[in-house]
Amino acid sequence: MSTPRYKKTVRERDIVCQGCGTVGTKNNQLTVHHIKPKCRYPELEKDPDNCTLLCQRCHTALHKKQGYPTPIHKPYERLDRYGRRKEKPKDRKRRLRREAKNRKKKRR
Ligand SMILES: [Zn+2]
Ligand SMILES: [Zn+2]
Repeated sequence: MSTPRYKKTVRERDIVCQGCGTVGTKNNQLTVHHIKPKCRYPELEKDPDNCTLLCQRCHTALHKKQGYPTPIHKPYERLDRYGRRKEKPKDRKRRLRREAKNRKKKRR
């Protein structure tokens, strides 16, 4: 799977998260966010001017605030045929373990 050109353009233009300035980490990767949601403005989907670079954390926070219907998919989430989240029990266990670990780390 290759990255669409408009996404490359946005990444090269913005370089860091436009919310917090991070260059992105393995657990908090940079993603291309559509300022006007592509589900409502499909014609703007590939317009770099409608895109901004955000890290996953800022991206999730923004969508929570704005309440766009576009779901944010974490890498461990798979969607079934109906667009619902699907997670294998094995993955769920692994995720919970990882989250518990992260929580411990943060507290220190
Ligand atoms: Zn950020
Ligand atoms: Zn977005």
